Amino acid sequence: MDIQLQQGYGSGGSSASDYGDESFEVIASRSEGLRKLEEFMPRAGRAYQATRNLDHGLGKHSNVSNLSPYIRHRLITEEEVLAAVLAEHSESDAFKFVQEVFWRSYWKGWLEHRGMLWPEYQQNLSWNLTSVQKDPRRWKTYELATIGKTDITPFNDWVKELLTTGYLHNHARMWFASVWIFTLHLPWELGADFFLRNLLDGDAASNTLAWRWVAGLHTKNKTYLATASNIRKCSSERFTDPCDHSLGLKRLATTTQPQQENLSPGALQNTPIEWPKPMSCLLGENTVSALLVTEDDLSTQIPFQPSTIAALSASPRSPIAPTNELVRQFSASAIEDTLQRLAEETSAHVVEQAMSEEEIVAWAVEQKVEQLFHPYAPSGPTQMRLRNLAPKLAAKGIRLTAFMRDYDRLVWPHASKGFFQMGKQIPNFLSVMELGQNLSADRTLSGL
Ligand SMILES: Cc1cc2nc3c(=O)[nH]c(=O)nc-3n(C[C@H](O)[C@H](O)[C@H](O)COP(=O)(O)OP(=O)(O)OC[C@H]3O[C@@H](n4cnc5c(N)ncnc54)[C@H](O)[C@@H]3O)c2cc1C
Repeated sequence: MDIQLQQGYGSGGSSASDYGDESFEVIASRSEGLRKLEEFMPRAGRAYQATRNLDHGLGKHSNVSNLSPYIRHRLITEEEVLAAVLAEHSESDAFKFVQEVFWRSYWKGWLEHRGMLWPEYQQNLSWNLTSVQKDPRRWKTYELATIGKTDITPFNDWVKELLTTGYLHNHARMWFASVWIFTLHLPWELGADFFLRNLLDGDAASNTLAWRWVAGLHTKNKTYLATASNIRKCSSERFTDPCDHSLGLKRLATTTQPQQENLSPGALQNTPIEWPKPMSCLLGENTVSALLVTEDDLSTQIPFQPSTIAALSASPRSPIAPTNELVRQFSASAIEDTLQRLAEETSAHVVEQAMSEEEIVAWAVEQKVEQLFHPYAPSGPTQMRLRNLAPKLAAKGIRLTAFMRDYDRLVWPHASKGFFQMGKQIPNFLSVMELGQNLSADRTLSGL
């Protein structure tokens, strides 16, 4: 069966325009990320803790930061966000927000410890899709779910919001994933893929692992069940129809079933890691060094002075369906913004347009680059492209070398087990970063 998908009905690739004129432009620049950070910081303390679970719906998410697309691309860094919140709030008032930022770092680190998981998940996606296509009822369910035409009104609203804005509140993501898996009986793998290509913040680690968490595959036998009462309670009364039946909430699964693990034991095993060295250990004498930036790390904090700088174009998010145009544009503009800033902030020659792998090889040869450095790209589409790029560069005598940010080097090694174990280290992480001193360890342990 041909499983090449086209944008549109049945592809799980509906676009914002299918929903009329509403459009929500999210500006992809560091200055916009900093502006949002500054604007949100007064609300990042106790107010965040008290209201973060409320999903007020499309365009009304001022109780949470909406910073995830900026953090995901490192237009602003985790460290900057933590520093900002702890400059404005006491450690105890800020603990919930701080903890959420570390959830991101936990998922990133956890996936790094399982180097085979992401490639295998990606490889299986075609098979996941084909097996749903083979069953006409399930395929119909998949098609209707991905265009928001199920008989569950809140679910359809979440699909609309996701496709038109590239964002969903955390609670809506949890409900969505739970309904997808336990009510619609669709594979978590395809749900995670649908999210990844439609979320501006789509992230291989946070997304894939949160879906596995909802499905009960991360913490053994711990599934997440979305209930009608919780959806109503936390959706700030926007589902005004008083009748659960007409909203389709009566159809929600009332129990969860354990999901079959389709990944191999090898993909779930810890793989030995040699963390890349910090930049200070890597620079050779008298070599022509260049910088390659990628969409995974658009910070311009560069620990050396490159003679020339280029960027790898943004990666497709999925092997089975196209990336949402909003997402594609956001990632491309974020890279452009960084190249512009690098041109202003450094004396290097900066190539203005992001390039394909082939163009990068040609550029590196032309510039007589001997060593091409890039900030370490964690598990995900960019890492896979860099793995393909390395031998092509090597064939021209050019070394592609990753350097690692201190933050990742500090946190990720502690993320191989549960969040509980890593969470205990948060006060130490903050103290190493000289950010907070008295965040008590037992306040860092509650759930997702
Ligand atoms: C099924 C599912 C899929 C998800 N997919 C993604 C994804 O692809 N990319 C992504 O960044 N997050 C993902 N999350 C986590 C979380 O929903 C988003 O990070 C958060 O909703 C972003 O909104 P915000 O910036 O307003 O968050 P805030 O509540 O303001 O939190 C501040 C920052 O902390 C981080 N953060 C907050 N909550 C979490 C969390 N539970 N897990 C990891 N990091 C968190 C984000 O970087 C966020 O920007 C997913 C969660 C679920 C349940």
